[in-house]
Amino acid sequence: MQIDLKGKTAVVTASTAGIGFAIAEGLARAGAHVVVNGRSDASVQSALDKLRDAVPDASLGGVAADLSDAAGVARVTQHTPDADILVNNAGIYGLKPFFDIDDAEWEHYFQVNVMSGVRLARHYLKGMIERNAGRIVFISSESGLNIPVDMIHYGFTKTAQLSIARGLAKLAAGTRVTVNSVLPGPTMSEGVREMLKAQADETGRSIDDIAVEFVRSERASSIIQRPATTEEVANLVVYVCSPQASATTGAALRVDGGVVDTIA
Ligand code: NAD
Repeated sequence: MQIDLKGKTAVVTASTAGIGFAIAEGLARAGAHVVVNGRSDASVQSALDKLRDAVPDASLGGVAADLSDAAGVARVTQHTPDADILVNNAGIYGLKPFFDIDDAEWEHYFQVNVMSGVRLARHYLKGMIERNAGRIVFISSESGLNIPVDMIHYGFTKTAQLSIARGLAKLAAGTRVTVNSVLPGPTMSEGVREMLKAQADETGRSIDDIAVEFVRSERASSIIQRPATTEEVANLVVYVCSPQASATTGAALRVDGGVVDTIA
């Protein structure tokens, strides 16, 4: 199968690092014009430089915008008024006991993880339906199904994305627009590396060792028994964004190494 996205414009949120960067790279390799987003001009510029090194003939754009409010989302839609592919990847996470999460933090998680995708889909989906073509992907998480007790606020936002993606897929019924969610499991992104760094510094062990041990002890149902790479997650997303994935919509697609212990 050859995935060819030439002539398509893809907006990938929070794509200066981690899973988002790998998705941007995968879409660029497939020939899409990719719009990269991060919170600062410097991070966007450095991601664009890295992408140009990796994919010399890539067609790229970039927009610095913090997606935690409507104004940030508006910066993206003003920069790129129409898109053929929208990947809602922006998402924050962190371990926190339920009793320590105040209202402001709940609201912040909701704005970044849920409302950024809602606002962007509200903008781009209309044009996709009119053109009878388009792809929207929400990057949810296995934590939207297996709610981690030390990240209930995060799990809640990831479940919300599943519901929104399913609803939007039904809204586009009968068209050639698909809307899906992709559920990664533990994945070695910059954010996860940062989360595990303190433990690595304390114990003198490598972050990669700690990550494998985390999967084996805290996500013991993992079948691959290791974290995924960002590229492994991006591969599924690029496929879902391809013309070949035209009969996959309204689905919650797992790239979690088998962590969620169900067959379907
Ligand atoms: P990461 O922290 O490694 O990368 C985050 C990127 O997000 C950076 O480029 C950062 O600049 C950008 N960003 C953060 N807040 C932003 C904001 N308000 N506006 C714009 N950009 C912002 O993240 P990751 O681990 O690659 O996670 C990406 C997505 O994948 C998230 O939605 C996360 O919930 C999901 N996910 C990650 C894992 C994992 O183990 N890494 C597992 C399941 C799901």
